[in-house]
Amino acid sequence: MKNLNPPQLDSLNVYKRVKKNARDADKKLRLENIEHLVLSRYEIYESNATTLEVMTDSNIIDENDIKALGSCYNRNKDGYLEGEVVAEIIALQSSQHKNSCPYCGMDKPRTIDHYLPKSIYPEFSIYPPNLIPCCGHCNGKKSFKWLNNGKRLFLNFYYDDIPNEKFLNVELIFDSNPLIQEPRVVFELKNNSGIGPEQFSLITSHYKELGLLNELSEYVEEELSNLHDEILHNTHLPREEHIESLRRKKDSFVRKYGQNYWKSSLYEAIIESDEFFERIYKLRVS
Ligand SMILES: [Zn+2]
Repeated sequence: MKNLNPPQLDSLNVYKRVKKNARDADKKLRLENIEHLVLSRYEIYESNATTLEVMTDSNIIDENDIKALGSCYNRNKDGYLEGEVVAEIIALQSSQHKNSCPYCGMDKPRTIDHYLPKSIYPEFSIYPPNLIPCCGHCNGKKSFKWLNNGKRLFLNFYYDDIPNEKFLNVELIFDSNPLIQEPRVVFELKNNSGIGPEQFSLITSHYKELGLLNELSEYVEEELSNLHDEILHNTHLPREEHIESLRRKKDSFVRKYGQNYWKSSLYEAIIESDEFFERIYKLRVS
């Protein structure tokens, strides 16, 4: 879990491209007429990017103007963004972020989330800093939610400072029957590194709203099973050798995706678990 680079696209230029490409004359005229309103909102967004919870209500109130802006994003409705600018925004990210949803770290980011939902803020429907690549699952879960009692519900991977300190912890739960070797994996959030309470509360809300802790516990099963299988079939090697290999992989995950990537946390928990190895090596002896 690491910050993304805010897209270095000229927002005014994107708006003008969309306006120019509009096939519908009425829509083109509407986009022309509200351009100054939209651009004034871009300025407000830009100056409050790290505190978007202060964003005031939209200044676009005419229903047809709202439709015109909303349709800019939908390819089927005389818009073009969904194909072209989405690809541009994803292409601007580092290679690891092209392959991993920033919100969950599980799937590829094939869709774009409107951080401020376009149903509430139509003026930001094609504003690049508001468009965050993520996977379809996270996008669907987030939907039009973003604020509750004046507090943001989700991390903003462009503008929030995603902490380097570890907060995603893995607990390995072993069965009372020692012959059942593979543990159950439980993900939990822990603040042992002094992350500020406001920031940690936002992190907690992000995981809760996206249902990530449960999702991750199921998602890791295959990875865990593969790791387990590899060690089980190589017990002629000393366990220290396996631990060293796991540690190298974990360090690589941390470099690429940060401390709080699910694989970083899973590998660390295994490396530190005597029981994980003892169950495997005991079975080999018996
Ligand atoms: Zn995701």
